[in-house]
Amino acid sequence: MTLSKSKIWQAAELKPVEFPLKRALFSNWFVTWTSPENPAYNYQAYTESRYYLFGGRLRGLRLVKLKQYVSLITTIVLHVVSLPLYIIFEARYAWTHISPAIIFIFCYLWCLSASCLIRATFQDPGLLPRNVHLVDNVVRNGLPIEYINSQLVDGPKSKVELKYCTTCYIWRPVRSSHCSMCNACILNMDHHCPFLANCIGQRNYWHFLCYLTFTILLCAFVCAQTAYRISRQDIADTPMSLFLLIYAALCIMFPASLLFTHLCFGLTGITTREYLATDRVEGHFFLKDVCLNPFNSGNLIANWLRQWLRPRGLSTLPLRQQFTETDTRFQEYVIGSLT
Ligand SMILES: [Zn+2]
Ligand SMILES: [Zn+2]
Repeated sequence: MTLSKSKIWQAAELKPVEFPLKRALFSNWFVTWTSPENPAYNYQAYTESRYYLFGGRLRGLRLVKLKQYVSLITTIVLHVVSLPLYIIFEARYAWTHISPAIIFIFCYLWCLSASCLIRATFQDPGLLPRNVHLVDNVVRNGLPIEYINSQLVDGPKSKVELKYCTTCYIWRPVRSSHCSMCNACILNMDHHCPFLANCIGQRNYWHFLCYLTFTILLCAFVCAQTAYRISRQDIADTPMSLFLLIYAALCIMFPASLLFTHLCFGLTGITTREYLATDRVEGHFFLKDVCLNPFNSGNLIANWLRQWLRPRGLSTLPLRQQFTETDTRFQEYVIGSLT
């Protein structure tokens, strides 16, 4: 059995996109938005859905509309402005009335948080390359029905589902999923984060958790220091301390709730995506039957260690290596249709 006729045509029409270099507008070391005439590195040839900064060291998702960048820009701005605000309005008081060490601690936490934000946002979350070597039978007749139905394979506790991605034409590794925003399958996908405009998966989950942790510590530190100052001075003399206290108190809420949620997920060995897909326990709105999760070892600490401290692994798309034209991982393909 095969897919419907339209699906057969779609598969048969797989063809390389015309190399986007003809319409190259802007490409250099700082920002690579479109590919140059002769790509030297892999990232230069892989710009259909992504852009790169600093010679391919950072990569971002090219979103369709400008307003889709608002969440990411807000996250970055909220983080960046906290540094000058603190230095201008609080550093002097901390230096003279508390200790110079306070300023160094603030700057250290700020840098750690910024570093993790950059890595969670602009690093490879675990992209899986597409299959561009479809066998003749698939191209001519479409996907066999066995590819459409998910398969059950042995898991750590029970059978786990294995699915074929009909967009990437690959069998996804267990716990991987296709992200429609990133338009790619992501290894060990947790969720797509709109605030970071990136998927959170195998290779950046740790940095995502560290970003939440350091942001919470940073905000708590600012709250404590500004509260101390307000308690010692007249509040009318320290309006910016009050502003910073409110700013930090508001900014701590979302990361704290998110980190608590991921702590619970870690203890039960479930990802955000799996949690959202799990059926609710009858009669309970929030409770879900996570005990059925085949990756739940039954030991909370073992679950947590495995989920939070799993190795990142190597990237399947090494973007800063030399480009060779025969490496089809870096060719972009579209699925056409007969019209
Ligand atoms: Zn996919
Ligand atoms: Zn994504």
